[in-house]
Formats: sequence, C-alpha cells, structure tokens
Amino acid sequence: MTTLKRIYAFGGGKADGKAAMKNLLGGKGANLAEMSALGLPVPPGFTITTEVCTEYSKVGGLPPGLMAEVEQALGVVGDLTGKRFGDAADPLLVSVRSGARASMPGMMDTVLNLGLNDATVQGLAAQANDARFAYDSYRRFIQMYSDVVLGIGHHHFEELLEIHKEERGVDLDTELGAEDWQTLVAAYKAKVQEELGRPFPDDPLSQLEGAISAVFGSWQNARAQTYRRLHDIPESWGTAVNVQAMVFGNMGDTSATGVAFTRNPSTGERAIYGEFLINAQGEDVVAGIRTPQHLTRVDREASGETKPSMEEALPEVYGELVRVFDLLERHYRDMQDIEFTVERGRLYVLQTRSGKRTAKAALRIAVELATEGLIDQKTAIARVEPASLDQLLHPTLDPKAKRDVLTRGLPASPGAASGVIAFTAEEAEAIAAERRDCILVRAETSPEDINGMHAARGILTSRGGMTSHAAVVARGMGRPCVSGAGALRIDAEAGTVSVDGRTLRRGDILTIDGSTGEVMAGAVATVQPELSGEFATLMGWADGVRRLKVRSNAETPLDAETARRFGAEGIGLCRTEHMFFDADRIIAVREMILASNASGRKAALDKLLPMQRKDFVDLFRIMGGLPVTIRLLDPPLHEFLPHSEEELAQVASAAGVSVATLKARAAELQESNPMLGHRGCRLGISFPEIYEMQARAIFEAAHDATEQGSGAAVEPEIMIPLAATRRELDILKARIDAIGAEVAKARGRTLKYLVGTMIELPRAALRAGELAETAEFFSFGTNDLTQTTFGISRDDAGHFLDDYLRNGIFPKDPFVSIDEDGVGELVRLAAERGRKTRPAVKLGICGEHGGDPASIAFCESVGLDYVSCSPYRVPIARLAAAQAALAKG
Ligand code: ADP
Ligand code: MG
Ligand code: MG
Repeated sequence: MTTLKRIYAFGGGKADGKAAMKNLLGGKGANLAEMSALGLPVPPGFTITTEVCTEYSKVGGLPPGLMAEVEQALGVVGDLTGKRFGDAADPLLVSVRSGARASMPGMMDTVLNLGLNDATVQGLAAQANDARFAYDSYRRFIQMYSDVVLGIGHHHFEELLEIHKEERGVDLDTELGAEDWQTLVAAYKAKVQEELGRPFPDDPLSQLEGAISAVFGSWQNARAQTYRRLHDIPESWGTAVNVQAMVFGNMGDTSATGVAFTRNPSTGERAIYGEFLINAQGEDVVAGIRTPQHLTRVDREASGETKPSMEEALPEVYGELVRVFDLLERHYRDMQDIEFTVERGRLYVLQTRSGKRTAKAALRIAVELATEGLIDQKTAIARVEPASLDQLLHPTLDPKAKRDVLTRGLPASPGAASGVIAFTAEEAEAIAAERRDCILVRAETSPEDINGMHAARGILTSRGGMTSHAAVVARGMGRPCVSGAGALRIDAEAGTVSVDGRTLRRGDILTIDGSTGEVMAGAVATVQPELSGEFATLMGWADGVRRLKVRSNAETPLDAETARRFGAEGIGLCRTEHMFFDADRIIAVREMILASNASGRKAALDKLLPMQRKDFVDLFRIMGGLPVTIRLLDPPLHEFLPHSEEELAQVASAAGVSVATLKARAAELQESNPMLGHRGCRLGISFPEIYEMQARAIFEAAHDATEQGSGAAVEPEIMIPLAATRRELDILKARIDAIGAEVAKARGRTLKYLVGTMIELPRAALRAGELAETAEFFSFGTNDLTQTTFGISRDDAGHFLDDYLRNGIFPKDPFVSIDEDGVGELVRLAAERGRKTRPAVKLGICGEHGGDPASIAFCESVGLDYVSCSPYRVPIARLAAAQAALAKG
C-alpha cells in the first residue's frame, strides 16, 4: 500500500491527475486537475485519494506517513503562491474540501481559511492591509472548523454574535469592524474551551490533520448515508480530500464569490445563469443568508432588481468569466455548474462539474449541443434520463383555472403541485405514508430534510435563492419548488403560514407552480403538457435508432388518444374487462355471470355485444390501422359480483330470477384463491359463449371500422389469457376462427387477424415451442409471470417486500424491474422456443415492466418485437428503447 501514490498535486498550469480519474480523485479533485492543466486560474492545491478514505474507514484513522506527504505537498503549493503554511508574516491559508466520485451537494462540509491562529491572522492583516478582512476570515474559520471538525454547532457562535451586537447597541444587519471580530474571536475560542475542555487547536498542521480526518470521517455520517441510499451510491466509493490555497472573496467591494451554470438549469436556455455576492466567502451563496445578486444584466432587469448585476458591477471580471465558461463548456461538451471567487478584481475558478438540470433543460441542452456540433445525436440521446421525462408528461396548471395567488417566490424547479401543508420533514413523511399529497413549507431546507423533501409533492421556502439547498435538491428529485417566497411568515410550532393578513393552517391545501414561482391557496386545475420543440426532436432521433416498437396498454378512447399523442405504435394490451364496469353495463355483466345455464348467459351476452362492438370500433378508429391486441376476458368472475342487496335486486329484475337464486349462485362462485382459480382462458373453456361474444364483437367492429374507412384496414390481434397448454389454445382458437369465418361470410369480405396468447405461467414459457404451433403471437404478461414464478401474490407482497429488499434478497422490487435471472430466463427461453417453431411469431411484453428502462434494456437483449406500457410511459419507453439499442451497438 505504501508504494501507492496517495497525493495528486494541481496548480501552476499543471496537474498529476485529470478529469478521467474521478474514481480515484473524486469529481471535484479530478476536475480541479483538469482545469489546472488547461491553464485556467485555479488556486493550487492537492487531492488525497479515495483509496485513503477506504483505508481510513478500515483502520479508523489516517494511515501512517500520510501527514509527512501532506507537508511536502504543502511546500509545493507554497512555492506556487509565494507563501508558507504557518508563516506568521505571510501565511498560506487553505481550504479542505471533500469530493466523492458522484457529486453529493451539501453532504460533506468544507473548511475555509485553515491555517489561521493569533499569530498568522496578524500576518494576513498586514499583507492585505485590512484588519477587518483578516479577523472576519478568522472568525469564519473558527466557527466552520468547530462545527465540522469539533462538533460544536453553529448556533453557539451565532448566539455570541447576537449578544455582541446587542451589547454594542447595533441592529442585526450592521456590518462589524475589525475590533468587533477580534473580540468575537476571543469569545469563540473561550466557547470552544468551555464546550470541549481543551483549547481550539492553534497549530496549523494539527488543524489540517483534524480537518482531513473529519472529511474522511464524514463519509460515514448520517446525511451522507441517506443521500447514498437515495441515489444508489455504494459505500465502497469513498471520498477524496482536496486541500487548496485560499483565495478571498471577502476582501471588499471588488471581491466576490458566486455560482453559475453555463446554461439555464431550469429551461436549458443558452444563457449564463447564476448568482454572486460581493464581499463574501463561498458558503454564503449556497446557504441563502444574504440574497445574492444576478450575474447578467438581462436577468437583473427581468427580475426588477435594483442591485447591480456582476455584468454591471464588475464588467471586466464578468468578461473573463464568460470566456472561462465558454472554454469549459466546449472542453467538457456539456453544461457546466461552476463555482468561482473574485479576489480584488482577479477571477479564480474553484469547481466545475456537469450541472444538474430539469428534464426540460436536459432535452433542450442535449438537442442544442448536438445542433451546435459539440456532441453527436447518439450522445444527445444518451444524455437524457428516460425516467426524468415523467416531469414533462404530467399536467401543469390550467392557465384558465382560477388562482387564489397568495404570494410569489422564485421559480426554482418546474411543475405544479397541490397538497396539504407540512411544516417539517417528519410531517411530510407521515402525510405521504397515508398516501396524501403534501407541500413541504419551510424557511429553508437543509440536508437533514432530504427524506421529507422526497415524500412531498412540492417544496416551498421563504428564504434562499435559485441555488439554495431546496432549489438544487428539488430539481435533482424532479419535485416542483418555489424558493425565497420572502413574504411568507411561517410558524411551524403554531402550524400557520401567513401572508398579507391571510393565514393558512396545518391541514389546509396549498398549490405551488415551480415554473412561475406562484403560491396559491387551495387546489388548482391542471392541463396536459405541450410535446413539441426539443422533446419532439430528441424523440425523433430516438425513434431513428431504436429497434423495439413501443405500444401502449389502453382500453378507453381517452387512454388510446393519449397513447397516440405520446407516440404509441399500437395497443399492446386492451383489457376487455375494464369495459365491463360502466354503470350501464355492469348489470348485464352480472346477469351473464350469475346465469345458471348457457341460455341465460346468452341472453345477457346479447345485451353486451353491441356495447362491446362499439368500444372496439372506437379503438380501431383512434388507432387508424395500427395493431391492436385485445385480451379476452381474464379476471376471476367474482370481481364482478354484486355487493349490496340493492345491486342484487337490480340484477334479479334484469334477469327475471329471484334474489335468493342469485345469492345461491354467487355463493357457488366464491373461490379461496381466485388468482389461481377460475380465470383467464379457463373461463373460455367453461363458458365458451363469453369468448364467442367477444370474438364476434371484435370481428364485426373490424369490419365496421374498415367499411367506415377509418384509415388502413384493421388487423386485430386476439389474445387468449393464462393458457398453460396447447390444447386450451386449440379449442379456443377453433371457436374464434369459426366466428371469424361466419362474420366474414355475412359481411362478404375476409379480414386478416391473429390469434395468440399471453405467456404468464411458467408452464406456458417452458412449453412455448408447442404453444407456438397454434399461437401466432406471444405477449409476456410479466406481472402474472412474476407472481407465478416466485409464487408471490403482488397484492400481499407489501407485507414482506421491504424485508426482502433490506436483506438484499431482491436487488430491486421484481414487480417494478424484471427479475432477469429467473423470470427473465423464462422469457428468454420461451422466445427461443417459440421462434424455433414459428420464426415469425410476434413477441411483446405487456406487464408494468414494459415501461421500466432497465426491463426495456432486457427486452432488447432478448430481441422482443415490442414493449407495451401505460400511455404516460410511452415516451420513456421510446427513449429507453433507443438507449438500449445504442448500448447493444
Ligand atoms: P461543496 O461541495 O459543498 O460545494 P466546496 O468544497 O465546493 O463544497 O466549497 C464550499 C464553498 O467554498 C464553495 O463556494 C467554494 O467555492 C468555496 N471554496 C472552496 N475552496 C476555496 C478556496 N480555496 N478559496 C476560496 N473559496 C473556496
Ligand atoms: Mg458544503
Ligand atoms: Mg462546491
């Protein structure tokens, strides 16, 4: 181990590391190295590798010899800056920053101004010719170091600050002078002595050793663990530590610190977007303590703000910043999120990374980067997370709906949400557990609130800017967020939110629009999203590379229309029983089920035939010649049974039998395990009239639609559910064919159609070769196939699923993402065996998995012909199918 390189230096136009070394140097360290080597103005420093973090976790401390190497590396930084660490006359100060492989915003804390003590602070004051600045830096350092390294919380120091201001008789916003800070530094150090029983560490090297240890230790803190769990980041990655020469944004009016995106992270617009604070240090911007100023004049003017933008206040530095942004974006070929500091008019870049963005921005940026020639279309397709499209597909506030606007904040993360008010993260989690929607309403959020933010439908804060914790995290999670709604008075203890003399209480409903910043009382109506522009362009590119077709599960005209609007290429599953629940049909359905003989059933079916035929004509018309797979009746009959005496009476009168007879028949139909009972094609075997009626409705509707000239000739795909044997298919197909021939004769025209089956039983998968002798297509019903393969009823899985996930028995919920090893093997095998018998057998999937990107990648690998998913997931499936095809190469 000792021969491994543990420290990588950067600075002076050179670097030991580079951007590709994120695993070893963390994202921050790798990019600092890359930027240094590019010749950008990066303060020099060095990165201690993630491997040292792993060692630290193993042995519970820094490995021997590390601090000697650190001292050596500090010497190099000193040479580049012309200062010495610990030198009382002209001290080198450093920041100690964590940085894991994946960015973990706010998860680990940074210490700035390290190396200050009672001696070096005087050197700093003399060098800067500014005692106020030096003592301001010193008090910041003591407070940060105490919080991060010594575990003495910020509030201790804030209290002392308030007491001091009171004693001096100045109000809270007054800027303090050098002597104030000097007094406070002494008070802060006394506080540390009091809390800790030992003095604040004075020796710069001990300070540094403590800070490095604290960063490595923080990899295991509760906040970091929660974040890792929510984002699937393995513990084994570890964090790197970056030690870097300080530059000072708090040296007066020509100094500043800021954060910026090279493009707008909410809309994707190609325009610099960011905030800065004059005379401030790093954490001030993110913490939302003071309201930051805009970077660009355009943004300032649009907001009506009077404080100058950076473009206006510091035009030369702004010009330099624009040049750096341009260079970084062209170098990384992606939108960058950048931290910078200006020290007395000189610009320094402190961090760059690919910026987090909303789905809308991701689409626009990917398409524009490709159009600008920075990336190719395939890269653009790969840049957009399919699941994130969900953010764009859902309704937004209806512009015509009445809004009771209470106030306005910053449009921090787009989308609209309504819900009851939750004042704490815990409250939000409790409300979500009751399956109710809530809006988390807080002054500002912090990393401890992550679980509650996840549970809420939206987030509203009264403080903080567009880059505050709430805004950044909400955008990452795809939650709507309005931040900095400063007019709100939030009293969490009393459970009230007041604004302009109006008060909402705990339990009241609130609506936020994260695209406009509006905050409204009550719930507000919503409208469907617009699917043109970059969305359509990227989808077009995706359609050009994908092999899998995408269909939708739909039975109502509304669902079918939505599916087509989202680009579905047919219906993969029309569940006919969903058409039976309408108020005007259910009586006839019940009559059919409860009939004691075939003629009674026939009478009821005759009533249903015209209704069912009309359903299919509608679907065929909407789908305009695209394939439509219709599944014959599937669920256990008891699902349709009447519940109340009133319902029984209605059915009895329609069927002309007594209530008592009906009750007796209903009792006969009870099953102890309906999921494995009299359902699927078993119904067709016992009561052939039912499937015959449905087949007739389908054929007649196909003729009607074709005769009415609604697009291309309809080619229905009739699907037999839950078959286990070829014999079942033979019997039922013969009956369907007979009806088909009869209708063709009556209409004087033959129409093409297919008869196939769902594969949802292990036996059907195993005997697929034989089933394909009769079936012309297979549709993998992976919901049932998962249930029957594991022997788990989905409705009951809730009782133990969490235990199975926690114990690592299931890597993921198998009802969400297909179990490739087991259920997947059955699919693979059935596809192979089916194709061997019938090379042209059409293969599709119609379970929930048809809309899950990981499962879609699996379907691509097996070579299925199509996936079918719910209408709202169609675009997700189109993009996921394209990415799967690209990944396969
Ligand atoms: P985070 O990961 O939370 O963003 P950072 O390590 O990036 O933490 O630092 C927090 C803040 O401190 C940032 O605004 C950053 O720009 C600033 N900062 C870090 N190192 C220095 C430095 N050497 N000089 C000046 N500011 C710094
Ligand atoms: Mg931080
Ligand atoms: Mg940072």
